[in-house]
Amino acid sequence: MASTAAIPTETASPVSPAQAKLFVVDATLPFGAARLAETAAYSLRHYGSASSRLTPTMIVLHFTAGATWTSARDTFAQDVPNLGELPGTCSHYVIDRDGTIYSLVPVTIRCRHTIGLNDQAIGIEMVQPAGPSGGWADQQILARPAQVDAALALVRQLQATYGIPTSSVIGHAMANADPHFHDLLGWRNDHVDWQSADVAQFRARL
Ligand SMILES: [Zn+2]
Repeated sequence: MASTAAIPTETASPVSPAQAKLFVVDATLPFGAARLAETAAYSLRHYGSASSRLTPTMIVLHFTAGATWTSARDTFAQDVPNLGELPGTCSHYVIDRDGTIYSLVPVTIRCRHTIGLNDQAIGIEMVQPAGPSGGWADQQILARPAQVDAALALVRQLQATYGIPTSSVIGHAMANADPHFHDLLGWRNDHVDWQSADVAQFRARL
């Protein structure tokens, strides 16, 4: 309802897209002491430091290869072994095709979404079924304004908050070649989501 003390709109400060408050739905996964301990043990094996704490310096883009945000969340909630190791896979955010952003894990906690970068990177999943190729799926997202605009807004905000350069916003398919990639057991990613040519298009819109 109208307020008698309303400030005339002409006096309102302009808000840039990076400053605008994002609407993020809290869909936090169960991430208790056991999963935190599994994450620290994974970090020790793969990165040499027994910590579950994340200080984000990178962002990795993904797509879910599924049709719904709930199927992705259900997968990440299970905490079952992947490649024979715990904790289960997860992602910090999932963005639905309608642009709704769901927060699954606080960005101060390491989440297992990209081999070689889980001790450095925030993971953002976008709902998109798999298709003929990874590049094809990337392009479906880039052509879906509600979803890609939400992803751009979220990435801009995370870049501003954590001082993450655009060169450190990468796709999962680029991870093995990234200069920050490291894995003490020699593991490598075999995923095709968000290839460099498609990430270049995404970066150009940041
Ligand atoms: Zn991925």
